[in-house]
Amino acid sequence: MNKLQWKHQYKIAINNYWSKTYKDQSANKSTLKHLCVDQVEIGKPHQIWQSIGSSVTEVKRSINHCRIATGTYLLQTNIAKFSNNKETATCPLCGLEEEDMTHMLTSCILLHGVRKTHLLRLKNIIIGYIGLRQWNEFFSDKQSITQLIVDPSYYSKTMKSLSNLAHITKATSEMCYEIHHKRLILKLELNIT
Ligand SMILES: [Zn+2]
Repeated sequence: MNKLQWKHQYKIAINNYWSKTYKDQSANKSTLKHLCVDQVEIGKPHQIWQSIGSSVTEVKRSINHCRIATGTYLLQTNIAKFSNNKETATCPLCGLEEEDMTHMLTSCILLHGVRKTHLLRLKNIIIGYIGLRQWNEFFSDKQSITQLIVDPSYYSKTMKSLSNLAHITKATSEMCYEIHHKRLILKLELNIT
């Protein structure tokens, strides 16, 4: 084996080791429950980063999307958990349910307007690739819609090609950002810190 082949083998072995370690450890992390770890490859950026250009706006949207995908986006359920339940987990905007990721992305009534526009756009893009029948089959409940928005690479096989997946991922990053932005504005208006 020459030096170059040895280096190549070495790199593969290291990447395999870290991929396995990462997948084993993330399987037990509740914050990563929506991140599709099977699609994560060491040494390759996640689809959220692969689907964008280099503009500041796109990078800002992707940073926000990564927080959502990796469970580091701070919701009221996280605040309650970190405070040992001294703080409430109830949504500070609507007060109707616990504010977890599914609530913010699919249910909160105060975010309905912004969500409806972006979900319709996302649905139309996906129907263009897989048809209405498959859309109804895969995305009939709030959990699957949450999974789609948080990390579309979970459905990479369903979406038929990497370019379709990149287009869908970009739309979900935009959706996440607009919902996040509306949530921030509402919190400011309602004087919630
Ligand atoms: Zn709410």
